[in-house]
Amino acid sequence: MKPFKIRLRFHGDLNVFLRSKAGDAVIERRLAEKTSIKDVIESCGVPHPEVDLILVDEKIVGFDHTVANDAKVEVFPVENHGTDRTEKRLQHVDITTFVTDGHLGSLTRNLRLLGFDVAYEQNADDRQLLEVMARENRALLTRDRRLLMHGIVQHGYCPRSQNADEQTIEVVRRFDLSESIAPFTRCLRCNAPLEAAAKADVIDELEPLTKIYYDQFRRCPGCKQIYWPGSHFPKLQKRIEEIRSRVRGKA
Ligand SMILES: [Zn+2]
Repeated sequence: MKPFKIRLRFHGDLNVFLRSKAGDAVIERRLAEKTSIKDVIESCGVPHPEVDLILVDEKIVGFDHTVANDAKVEVFPVENHGTDRTEKRLQHVDITTFVTDGHLGSLTRNLRLLGFDVAYEQNADDRQLLEVMARENRALLTRDRRLLMHGIVQHGYCPRSQNADEQTIEVVRRFDLSESIAPFTRCLRCNAPLEAAAKADVIDELEPLTKIYYDQFRRCPGCKQIYWPGSHFPKLQKRIEEIRSRVRGKA
């Protein structure tokens, strides 16, 4: 087969994945055999769950499109700014359940604090993460690009920031979660939805001052942890408000 040349331009923040010099969002690939556009894109370092729209010579294509001749390719990220998504997009945004890898413990707590269903095992290996993802139809959150490139991954996201609060804002934006935030409804330790608990039912397990000052309690049916709006509560509320306003402000 005659060798051919693919010229790819990566839009938005997809350049963070490129192995080439920073700021250079155009990559050329020389190929000698028919190749799927998904493989060409991933060979540049960009995991397929990050790709929302592909144009090959100005035509919209899917991941299974193959290239066999010179072509110009435009690759777009998921940009969910309330824009019209009726075009043929490759990613879903309406996902509310997640599985996080072992390095994202703080992000996991933040998302649970906002009420989201996040499966997390600190010591889970790649195979276990992918199993939970596929079995429970969760989106995979990981900074491991190789893992995100696994063929079985349908929905996923690589947090750009290393900071958990920033990561939280990124995830809420990426999956359009701001309308679904339900703070203090989920156990931060084990992810189970909390249940209201009568004071009489939990009073034996409370510290003396908590018994006096608080009347509203929730209990985790999973790990039995008791939650109440204690001294840490205003700080958590402030954090949630910050996340909300940052998401709204797109800043
Ligand atoms: Zn629990």
